[in-house]
Amino acid sequence: MALRFYNTLTQKVEEFAPADGRTVRMYTCGPTVWNFVHIGNLRTFTFQDLLRRWLRARGWALDHVMNLTDVDDRIIREAAAAGKSIYDYTGPYAEAFLADAATLRLERPERLVKATDHIPEMVEAIGKLGEKGFTYESEGSVYFSVARFAEYGKLSHSDFGGMKAGARVDTDRYDKTDARDFALWKARKRGEHYWDSPIGAGRPGWHIECSVMSMKYLGETLDIHAGGVDLTFPHHENEIAQSEALTGKPFARFWLHSEHLMLGDEVMSKSLGNFYTLRDLMGMGYTPEAIRYLLASVPYRKQLNFSFDGLKAAATAIERLRNFELRLNNETFAEGLEERVAARGAESLGKFDQSLDDDLNTAEALAAVFEYIREANTAMDAGGFRAANRAQALELLARFDSVFDVLKPAVKAGAISDQEIEQLIAGRTAARQARDFKRADQIRAELAERGVILEDTREGIRWKRK
Ligand code: AMP
Ligand code: ZN
Repeated sequence: MALRFYNTLTQKVEEFAPADGRTVRMYTCGPTVWNFVHIGNLRTFTFQDLLRRWLRARGWALDHVMNLTDVDDRIIREAAAAGKSIYDYTGPYAEAFLADAATLRLERPERLVKATDHIPEMVEAIGKLGEKGFTYESEGSVYFSVARFAEYGKLSHSDFGGMKAGARVDTDRYDKTDARDFALWKARKRGEHYWDSPIGAGRPGWHIECSVMSMKYLGETLDIHAGGVDLTFPHHENEIAQSEALTGKPFARFWLHSEHLMLGDEVMSKSLGNFYTLRDLMGMGYTPEAIRYLLASVPYRKQLNFSFDGLKAAATAIERLRNFELRLNNETFAEGLEERVAARGAESLGKFDQSLDDDLNTAEALAAVFEYIREANTAMDAGGFRAANRAQALELLARFDSVFDVLKPAVKAGAISDQEIEQLIAGRTAARQARDFKRADQIRAELAERGVILEDTREGIRWKRK
């Protein structure tokens, strides 16, 4: 069966292929860089990374645009409170996001774009919406008139029959499923960052940012638009209204929404204060691979309950995978091929692919890998795993890791290099020759602290990492 996704727009699982049969044009809403991202945000971005990798595994090329929202209500508020320009305020958080994404092995989208680099295009789009009669002005701000867009509600499947004409909202984020005219351009306020423009001095609303940046790079109809489930309404509903009002064409063919990471009964969120950042968890000694595994292991349309037990189980799962890889690489197996193991391998490879084709069912894909590992380990213990079975086992691990990417241990920050170890050992030898045993012991202790064990042998000093 072909690759298929659940499409929020049609509420159906549909077969997916890019419109041009070659390149997937995909837009994902990136972070608002007003603070460090938390692992809830990172669950959504991890899902998008798996999506990228699987689309490529299925033979499609990618043109993926992710934005950085570097101007919105929260940024303006926090920057003002910190007495900084929005650029000085957001710069370090944008950097921190890219660093966290790299630590979690999230591939860089083909294009990462900033809202503040596209203000003239936004002003132009708002002007065009005005010419087409979709906007009105009030106190220097420009609003989108939701009543003018007949299909409003088609993504969130809400019936806006009781809609109050002219009810307006000025905030970027509002979550009641209640049709309201939203701001495309917000009039300048004292002390706030603003841009001069033909539609007045002010700044763009959040929703217009994504419509403009996605269509600028990917054209009027995208193959995939993705984001966390909380963005369905109003953000994505508003993106559709703006974009389709501008072009008269469908804005995105597939809408993919990932469910929330939960802490107990609550959605992990900055505003509730119930969150962990990647840095928090790494500070507690958890590895990026374990965090990535945990975030990837639950299919994206299911809520994921975060727990430290879950994180430990993820670390254990990775250990099992790595131990199996070690066995494959280090043990010697009798010549020949064990048919039963080969048949299980083929089955697991098939099931792995089919599971990911099935709306990225990561849990089933992992089950397929572990079923094989269990069988293969048992076979190895009983001498029933042969040299010719190795290639297939390695292929399965490689296929797994091309998507999950957790097998290679991260190099710890501050990890000691081979060269540095050799230098310290040379220093210790010199200290001993000079009968400075205190210094020699200090060096041994320093190495031990940094995870290196020394063995004095007849052939000289040997070292290994703990
Ligand atoms: P924001 O920076 O608030 O725009 O959020 C960035 C992304 O993280 C959006 O796609 C949100 O839907 C997503 N997100 C926020 N909280 C969570 C959560 N607890 N679990 C999963 N995704 C989330
Ligand atoms: Zn967006």
